[in-house]
Amino acid sequence: MDQQANPNYALAELDKQTMLHPVTSIAALEADGPQMFGKASGVRIAGPLGHDVIDFGAGLWCVNVGYGRQELADAAASAMRDLSYYHLFGGASNEPAVRLADEILTLFHEQAGAGHLSKVFFGTSGSDANDTAYKLVRYYNNLRGKPEKKKFLARAGAYHGLTYAAGGLTGIPAYHKAFDLPQEGVHHLTCPHHFRFADAGETEDNFCDRLIAELERTIEHEGAETIAAMIAEPIMGTGGVLIPPRRYLERVQALLRKNDILFIADEVITGFGRLGSWFGTGHYGLRPDIVTLAKGVTSAYFPLSATVISEDIFETLRDASAEHGPVMHGFTYSGHPVGCSVALENLALMKRENIVANAAEMGDHLLRRLREKAGDHPFVGDIRGEGLMAAVEFVADKAERRFFRLPQGAHRVVARHCLQQGVAMRPLPFIEVVSFSPPLSINPAEIDEGVDAFVRGLEAATPELV
Ligand code: PLP
Repeated sequence: MDQQANPNYALAELDKQTMLHPVTSIAALEADGPQMFGKASGVRIAGPLGHDVIDFGAGLWCVNVGYGRQELADAAASAMRDLSYYHLFGGASNEPAVRLADEILTLFHEQAGAGHLSKVFFGTSGSDANDTAYKLVRYYNNLRGKPEKKKFLARAGAYHGLTYAAGGLTGIPAYHKAFDLPQEGVHHLTCPHHFRFADAGETEDNFCDRLIAELERTIEHEGAETIAAMIAEPIMGTGGVLIPPRRYLERVQALLRKNDILFIADEVITGFGRLGSWFGTGHYGLRPDIVTLAKGVTSAYFPLSATVISEDIFETLRDASAEHGPVMHGFTYSGHPVGCSVALENLALMKRENIVANAAEMGDHLLRRLREKAGDHPFVGDIRGEGLMAAVEFVADKAERRFFRLPQGAHRVVARHCLQQGVAMRPLPFIEVVSFSPPLSINPAEIDEGVDAFVRGLEAATPELV
């Protein structure tokens, strides 16, 4: 079609003239223009090539109940009429915020065995939830008379967001470049991904032993009295859907506890059903001191995040309160009544429709189908997943476990072809992986249709990869 006759042409031009896009190459945008997405319903979205596509990303791992749910639109509209906005500063409160805090804690207590989690702080994004955790940990250590305990441990390949503190905890170098990150005091440990980072012949258990020994050495070298916390996603998402080695998280937690180092579980992706359980905390039997949440809490219909802290941390804050004064941290939109109302309806809908159980079942179906249809492809090195968080990792040579070194990335080539074939895939920025994280409401026929489109995309991409 003549470029200028395309109805989106003017909009695309206006986009280039007016926006600085997140995580986008300016040069590529100027050359190729933006990809305009349109209306969406269920698992389908109007794609940039003029046809609908199945969204195998659920946006950015977040549209858990699928697109276009009337119930959430109604909840937002009615909340906007009731109390369009009020804040939580200086002890102000509102009913939807209180009810949502209670609902989140109840879910943790009843569905994740995490009865020690005790208070919820609201924000608006996964990044600010992690910045809040970063600040509260420092605050807590200052209040309990340990001002030297400030360093943070994270992992290579981790993604914790892109505000300044969270951006430094993120362990993917592409996000640090020219931003003077990571900041001082952040230490990244080896990425716990056996398939790619194990030495030749190293078993998963031996790899895990090596990671634990590294953590032990790091604590000893830096001094436990200087390390405040370690942050970890139960399954690393943006890093490549990296499922930790057996017993890794359990052993990490034990070491941290022994050394009085807090454990922060970043559940921005894994929270609210993605793994086929309500939380990664329950899925892996974790006992985090802080959990951060965003995305699925509102299925991304409204920007809302939560930083949930343990009773132990809260007690320190409370005991120091009379003398120390208010906790001087918060945001205009903390506890936004519209966002909290949308979240409450989203969680109610997830329960009514058994969406978490569906995620477990559909996750099994997705993995089975991927293995059947793509397992034998010469460039498919690994297919893995937990619930509806799955990935295909590409290799140039399976037998030698040799990875691609293409400047554009094999996974990006595949994703481009997949879009033409009718499925939106996310090529991830750390290693050559495409992720599969569809809405948790997806059904078997939609999975089959999406996997078939993925396989067609993979076949179409293959000649460009050899
Ligand atoms: N933490 C994890 C695990 C994430 O995947 C993300 C976003 O993808 C974030 C934090 C940051 O969330 P946001 O983009 O809402 O700031």
